[in-house]
Amino acid sequence: MRKPLIAANWKMYKIPAEATAFTDAFLPLIASKQKAEIVLCPSTTSLAATIEATKGTEVRIGAQTMHWLDNGAYTGETSPIMLNAIGVTHVLIGHSERRQYFNETDETVNLKLKSALAHKLVPIVCVGEHKAERESGKTNDVLRQQITVGLQGIDPAAATSLVIAYEPVWAIGTGLTATPQIAEDAHKFIREQIAEVLSPAIAASTRILYGGSVKPDNAASLCCLENIDGALVGGASLDPTSFAQIIAGASI
Ligand code: PEP
Repeated sequence: MRKPLIAANWKMYKIPAEATAFTDAFLPLIASKQKAEIVLCPSTTSLAATIEATKGTEVRIGAQTMHWLDNGAYTGETSPIMLNAIGVTHVLIGHSERRQYFNETDETVNLKLKSALAHKLVPIVCVGEHKAERESGKTNDVLRQQITVGLQGIDPAAATSLVIAYEPVWAIGTGLTATPQIAEDAHKFIREQIAEVLSPAIAASTRILYGGSVKPDNAASLCCLENIDGALVGGASLDPTSFAQIIAGASI
């Protein structure tokens, strides 16, 4: 009942010409009717070119971040109405690199999530523990806090599009991956927290993606467990062939 979602996070890579070279190579590699929803998240300056290049396909385009306000004196920021205006449909919220380098907190995640839902952008809210937190047995405490504060006060009626990405920080860009059992346990725990904060029905329909060094050779084992509904892919999504292989592996 939950449609798998495979999202590419291109981070601060690919100018517009590189983004369209990617789509030129990538689109012929994937079937026109997909079992999974496919989302590409380019950098801000490549959003428009990627939207144009994927027009008429089922591929959707997401931003990597946004401000929660519609407009204002916030130099350098991009607002949800600006994203809506150019055809962006999804937005990453609270990626661990945003939390680590740009001071994003569970409180700003919450503001952004409410704003994204109000503007009909599909929010992909990223959560996950650091290595030291896992090693000291604090993983569930961290996830509980991130979900409880991040999702606080969300209108359950508006939350039907909510997507969560579980991304253990120690697995991002490191080549280390959670074992399928570690990932499944974390996803199950996150789903239980969503049930507490929102409702069991929303928890059952919320897609929870795994992220952290997903590659063509591990996608099938990581993406197809009971509580894992797809993947958020960083490094391996920069290459059209490897991203297409991940989609093929993950959406069986
Ligand atoms: C990410 O940036 O969200 C990510 C999961 O990166 P990588 O796949 O490179 O670990």
